[in-house]
Amino acid sequence: MEKRLTYLDYNATSPMRPEVISCWQAAAATIGNPSSVHTFGRDAKQLIETARLQLAKLINCQTHEIIFTGSGTEANNQILRRAGFANVFASSIEHDSIRLARDDLTLIPVQTNGIIDLGALEQQLKSSVGPKTLVTVMFANNETGIIQPIADVVKLAKQYGAAVHCDAVQAIGKIPVDFTALGVDSMSISAHKFGGPQGVGALIVKADIALKPLIIGGGQERNLRAGTHNVASIAALGKAAELAHNTIASEYTRLINLQQHLESALLTAQIIGKDVERLPNTTNIIMPGAQSSTQVMALDLAGVAVSAGAACSSGKVKASHVLTAMGIDKDLCNNSIRLSTGWQTTKDDIDHFISAWAAMHKQPLELKTKGKKKV
Ligand code: PLP
Repeated sequence: MEKRLTYLDYNATSPMRPEVISCWQAAAATIGNPSSVHTFGRDAKQLIETARLQLAKLINCQTHEIIFTGSGTEANNQILRRAGFANVFASSIEHDSIRLARDDLTLIPVQTNGIIDLGALEQQLKSSVGPKTLVTVMFANNETGIIQPIADVVKLAKQYGAAVHCDAVQAIGKIPVDFTALGVDSMSISAHKFGGPQGVGALIVKADIALKPLIIGGGQERNLRAGTHNVASIAALGKAAELAHNTIASEYTRLINLQQHLESALLTAQIIGKDVERLPNTTNIIMPGAQSSTQVMALDLAGVAVSAGAACSSGKVKASHVLTAMGIDKDLCNNSIRLSTGWQTTKDDIDHFISAWAAMHKQPLELKTKGKKKV
């Protein structure tokens, strides 16, 4: 009998829907560089502009505010490094593509519930305000799914004349995100987190931000992102955005039901952020005494793919900066695993995890690491 495999790591990357794969394949077969003026070039450009419209509809922005990039990482790097900000305040739970983009960031603390400390931010803004100040806060955290009060951050930052960037990579396609209504100045997105291909993203930016390119060369993307467009992946990003737009409400309900089903079965575990607003697809579980990496390996042997904290940093065994920022004990941080679901996840998948998890915690975990160095 074939081993059952269950993928519960959508925050690391989500599988593409069949319609997105078809769109990608058709676009990949299109001849022409979108910068060329001939018919072939214009056809390729049309695919890019369709994707721009589809993305603009999903996040309610103007098409001219979208700059296609090679990833969410690139979008975050560009706004932090190439928009002329002198002071940058970043929440202490940001993704490494923000945290490591500059070495002069001032970190904004989060409260023990994982929500940004707006009082602390106000004190920071008071003591260091200037026309070139940026506040950067993610929409939803990749490790915990905890959602930040971005509208409140914007209100506060504007009182002190600061601009606001929002890394919405994990929120897009999972919960409604309205760029214009939020009032942020820029936002980053990544296609592979919402059913699109890997290696393509976008920076959404208001016209009054003095942005310069991070990648220099041809004049693509209004001189703000050089390099021949990845036509197939951008077209597929657009298709994924269209599908997300059409299914977001029903998927939200379906995923929140699965989340409740999952979490009601994990009675002996601690769920991070259980009492605050969270993404419907993310559950971060702490099981005291059980090493994260050991749990991930044991679950993998049972056919269930989950992650130990952020997948982008897997391989490095270090306490999560997100959980430590929330004041969680270092040992407990190393006992956490993250499950993240998506469009293909079923109740059977969740039940597969629950039985593997229950079996794992009834046995000594050492058995699962036989022959390997215990971490
Ligand atoms: N921001 C957040 C919150 C993420 O979770 C990730 C990836 O995990 C990124 C940015 C980087 O996106 P990309 O994988 O497109 O570089």
